Amino acid sequence: MQLVESRKEGLYCTVGDFYIDPILPVKKAWITHAHADHYCSGCEAYFGHDQTIYFLKKRIGRIAPMTGIPYGVKRSINGVEISLHSAGHIPGSALIRLEYQGEVWVITGDLNPPGSVCCAPFEQLQCDHLITECTFSHPKFVWPAQDLVFNQVQDWFKACINQQVAPILTAYSLGKAQKVQLMCQTLGIPYMVHQTVEKFNQCYRDLGFEIPFASIVKDGIQPRHYAGQLIIAPPTVLKTAWLYRFNQVSTALCSGWVLQEGMVQKRGANVGFCISDHADFPDLVRHIKRSQADVVYLMHGDKARMASHLGDFHSNIKLLEYQ
Ligand SMILES: [Zn+2]
Repeated sequence: MQLVESRKEGLYCTVGDFYIDPILPVKKAWITHAHADHYCSGCEAYFGHDQTIYFLKKRIGRIAPMTGIPYGVKRSINGVEISLHSAGHIPGSALIRLEYQGEVWVITGDLNPPGSVCCAPFEQLQCDHLITECTFSHPKFVWPAQDLVFNQVQDWFKACINQQVAPILTAYSLGKAQKVQLMCQTLGIPYMVHQTVEKFNQCYRDLGFEIPFASIVKDGIQPRHYAGQLIIAPPTVLKTAWLYRFNQVSTALCSGWVLQEGMVQKRGANVGFCISDHADFPDLVRHIKRSQADVVYLMHGDKARMASHLGDFHSNIKLLEYQ
């Protein structure tokens, strides 16, 4: 039976009567992870991994009952057995596994099989029906070795300091910013952070992760305050007046999208570094094959391109849109 269907509010479990990552307010929302494109405010009840619920409380407040569940613990809702399994993407990120009358469905949200900092290791699941993201759905998206990328960041940082230009490294505040801070520690690069990054740093500390305290970029900051330091900020500062507080800047974007022609310039950055917390194309394909799913539903990314690639070894692929 069609245990999960696509509705205008999001993915809906017909028997369990709940939604997964809804884009509109619903009664019961199961959330794969706390990135803003995977939840909406206004739902009557939220469920997710303990860490996801912690982030949600910080992001949208305690506006409704929120229930945190550890990985691997099974709950039964109208006969549907539901459990969460690490997606390796950001802390708390989960694959949602549903089992009903012997049939298993897995919904991925975002996933990263190699794992990310402060994340439980990715758990490869097998299922009958797999609903998976395919954000990086082109074979050109292959992540280079992180050591190589970190060296590129270090070279750019040194060049900026030599030219007395402030290096602004932009990375999403939840997940990637913590990854680049730990990179800075490894490389011995001194850094300051945007206040939004610090807000999430504190969340990480509250969850028990060791994220060092760094100076925060404040209004009225002077060159003597930031001289010789890397500035870590969210990508939302690109092309904004926030950058005017520095005399001269060089801006960098950390994303898998930097492998897309013209994307660095389009986002308003000077340089790009391929640092991602998503599966690259080979990892996506491997994860789909290893799931051994009879039916694969694709969401996000270039679904048609991914489907044509998967068609070589899989005969039952569906493209999913909210409807
Ligand atoms: Zn995400």
